[in-house]
Amino acid sequence: MFKKILVANRGEIAIRVMRAARELGIKTVAVYSDADKEALHVKYADESFPIGPAPSNLSYLHIPNIINAAVQTGSEAIHPGYGFLSENHHFAAVCQTWGIKFIGPPADAIEKMGIKAQARQMMKEAGVPVVPGTAGTVENMDAAKRIAEEIGYPVLVKASYGGGGRGIRVVESSQQLGEALERASREAKSAFGQGDMYIEKYLHRPRHIEIQVLADEHGNIVTLGERESSLQRRRQKVLEEAPSTAIVPDLREKMSEATVRAARAVNYTSAGTLEFLLDEEGKFYFMEMNTRVQVEHACTEMITGVDIVKEQIRVAEGLPLSMTQADVALQGWAIECRINAEDPEHQFRPSPGHVTQWLEPGGPWVRVDSGAETGYQVQPFYDSLLAKVLTWGRSRDEAIDRMRRALSEFKIEGVKTTLELHKQLMQDEDFCAGRIHTNFLAERIKGA
Ligand code: ADP
Ligand code: ADP
Ligand code: MG
Repeated sequence: MFKKILVANRGEIAIRVMRAARELGIKTVAVYSDADKEALHVKYADESFPIGPAPSNLSYLHIPNIINAAVQTGSEAIHPGYGFLSENHHFAAVCQTWGIKFIGPPADAIEKMGIKAQARQMMKEAGVPVVPGTAGTVENMDAAKRIAEEIGYPVLVKASYGGGGRGIRVVESSQQLGEALERASREAKSAFGQGDMYIEKYLHRPRHIEIQVLADEHGNIVTLGERESSLQRRRQKVLEEAPSTAIVPDLREKMSEATVRAARAVNYTSAGTLEFLLDEEGKFYFMEMNTRVQVEHACTEMITGVDIVKEQIRVAEGLPLSMTQADVALQGWAIECRINAEDPEHQFRPSPGHVTQWLEPGGPWVRVDSGAETGYQVQPFYDSLLAKVLTWGRSRDEAIDRMRRALSEFKIEGVKTTLELHKQLMQDEDFCAGRIHTNFLAERIKGA
């Protein structure tokens, strides 16, 4: 069993991981950039180690510094959290070279799923339905035009190495295709180091439904039901819930089966998520796999009672999952609101600064995963997620009532946040009725 692990991340997810480790009796090491000396995740950890200057490419993304921190502190394993190095197959392999266990899937599975155009092909071969589009990446403009005509406009051009909602563009007609591809490819190249593009049919008002999966090194695979992440801003998730109002048991069963096939196809272990789009006719299509713990994993934890991070650690230790599929029962409803340091009055631009007051909600069935506190300095260098507020209810209505109450308790001063947006959403008639889709926010929120 591990005695000490290093968490190669910051903010709420670093603390989330350390909490699981602490429950398991494992010591934790935080790493921090020059900007994060006073950050909450550093205070929470048993030990901490500096990894370089504020910009993440010099610290949280700098592999030699992270490995050095693990070696110097005698850490046996590294948990990457989400973002940063979590989906970097090279990093997973380097950890192995140094005899440090990477708490995540095998490097090979990360690599296969990380090239999105290739993953689509692989999934198709494994019998998982994929969004109609190119087989592999776009070879040349003639092929691109032909395929786009075939599937019909509008189409999406997507960066094969993209993520975080970036590198995706809607194309309405063949006249726009050439320029869109070129421009998106150039952007992808500078953002992800790779300009490969693929094309997908642009689905009309789909829902984003994802299935959480866990797998161990003994061949056991368990799915934990779905989450709905349709409420997005610029293809980035804003609010999630589990289960989904769009899913009936039969469809859940089918999507879960497809997920197990996908996981088997890449010899997956650890926690992962299959992201699907569900169209207006109830047909589902594979979009991508996130080979890491997700921001919204806590929704699933609340309706299943399974601690997903603890399972990741168990699996990395070589233990079997602590439950079988038959043990998994979905109970009640969970909602998660992401509280970001962003200014809704100004197109949700990041709002760094000094938090002068921070008072978190509490009480029955409220969970707050946060990386901030009063006096905290929100840095401009990193993701703007400050905290996640989750509520659980026996029904969706109860979870919503509880979320209204929880949000009313949350006091944040000094920086602009998305708190107000969530309060509005909790009053929205269509949201409350479960009538949502991925264009929902864009259609009603100013600047979204
Ligand atoms: P990322 O890797 O950036 O997360 P995804 O491929 O998961 O990219 O897509 C992000 C979001 O973009 C989806 O959740 C969905 O809202 C939207 N999207 C992606 N593909 C399609 C599609 N074919 N049709 C409509 N919307 C899409
Ligand atoms: P989740 O899929 O876990 O709900 P997000 O899509 O919001 O979460 O992504 C989690 C974090 O990882 C965000 O900080 C996002 O910006 C970042 N991220 C995800 N994929 C990439 C990528 N390929 N490159 C850079 N950042 C990414
Ligand atoms: Mg995605």
